[in-house]
Amino acid sequence: MPKPVVAIVGRPNVGKSTIFNRIIGERISIVEDMPGVTRDRIYGTGDWLNHTFHLIDTGGIDIGDEPLLVQIRQQAEIAIDEADVIIFVVNGRDGITSADEEIAKLLFRSKKPVVLVVNKIDNFEKRNEAYEFYSLGMGEPIPVSGSHGLGVGDMLDEVVSHFPTIDLEEYDENVICFSLIGRPNVGKSSLVNSILGRERVIVSNIAGTTRDAIDSSFEKEGQEYVIIDTAGMRKRGKVYETTEKYSVLRALRAIERSDVVLVILNAEEGIIEQDKKIAGYAHEAGRALIIVVNKWDAIEKDERTMQQFEAKIRDEFQFISYAPILFVSAHTKQRLNAILPMIQTVAENHALRVKTNVLNDVIMDAIAMNPTPTIKGKRLKINYATQVSVKPPTFVVFVNDPELLHFSYKRFLENRIRDTFGFKGTPIRIIARKKN
Ligand code: GDP
Ligand code: GDP
Repeated sequence: MPKPVVAIVGRPNVGKSTIFNRIIGERISIVEDMPGVTRDRIYGTGDWLNHTFHLIDTGGIDIGDEPLLVQIRQQAEIAIDEADVIIFVVNGRDGITSADEEIAKLLFRSKKPVVLVVNKIDNFEKRNEAYEFYSLGMGEPIPVSGSHGLGVGDMLDEVVSHFPTIDLEEYDENVICFSLIGRPNVGKSSLVNSILGRERVIVSNIAGTTRDAIDSSFEKEGQEYVIIDTAGMRKRGKVYETTEKYSVLRALRAIERSDVVLVILNAEEGIIEQDKKIAGYAHEAGRALIIVVNKWDAIEKDERTMQQFEAKIRDEFQFISYAPILFVSAHTKQRLNAILPMIQTVAENHALRVKTNVLNDVIMDAIAMNPTPTIKGKRLKINYATQVSVKPPTFVVFVNDPELLHFSYKRFLENRIRDTFGFKGTPIRIIARKKN
């Protein structure tokens, strides 16, 4: 079941990013620890009452050199297009401004559920001041103080009450869902067309409120696949479509619904920061990953070119060193037939379960080879490990004190597990738990 999307809109300085941070709390992003991957605080994940949702701070979406009002309007449009529920933030100290009215008009027309939040009501004795915002026509205004954390629970109660309740039927466990993500122009549509061009395809348009991707299912050698294609669904002509951050948003949603994510690079352009960010999201979401370098026909090559390109990718994408790399061309069809088998391989690894006794042998051998660290006079003790889930493979290691299992030792254990079981193409997770 895809997570609902909540977007925060409002003019500058009303407290959007404060509220954003308040909602996502102190979640630590795995990607943040990775050198070379900086994370912008625009997308996050929130939890409330058994609901997990994506959160977008549209105020952080850089629209470019447009006048303020145009920017605000475009941010609101993105929220309308992408979100299941919109949090509309106004400043309780300023009263209603014309920009607020402008936003209200757009939101009203969209018919999306909107939660009107009056921020900076720091003293809850003054909560009645929020009532003047009734006249925006957006329902009951909820007084909050983002910086003090007041009213945030009421706000979230209201937000989750608008989540879609229909359980969208996703695909059978055995179907491999995959998506192609990457910047505009890397060749995603061309690749999708080439892959689909060879198969008998059933196209279904998942027409949920926000799930406007095209799903194409087909079968190949007994395996069912679904391509989740957002590239083909671009709303051409919208100004914000060209902003990079917006394309990330699209990618995020496709990633969410995929087992396997193909990160498409353009051989002609090399690797940019944006590529890493997108791959980082897929990694963090726990999806299997393949790096596909497209337009391999378009560059001049000698016998070392591929090796050099690969070294560069490994250097730039250290956090997904498990991802296989394919060099292809949608134009000449070179190596396209390697894509589906590779998808199948990494999907199998993504769903792989290992035997507990073998796992524990591996862990014990690892400890014998490289003894557990001592931190502040206390030695990490590992009792045993077990695989608790798949997609991605997730291991719980029972230890004397979870604080003692640092990143570097975890990485070491991960490498030992990978050396033994493969897990090519899939992230794996290791969680330390205290053994009682
Ligand atoms: P954004 O531009 O809408 O994202 O607004 P920010 O979250 O950056 O906040 C703008 C300013 O308002 C910052 O100086 C915040 O510290 C302040 N602010 C945010 N929330 C509150 C609040 O609840 N009460 C008060 N007094 N100030 C707040
Ligand atoms: P998307 O924006 O990622 O979906 O990219 P498109 O599939 O629309 O392709 C962008 C441009 O790159 C188009 O002009 C394609 O013809 C071109 N293109 C796509 N794949 C290849 C390829 O393998 N080789 C070359 N030379 N050009 C390609």
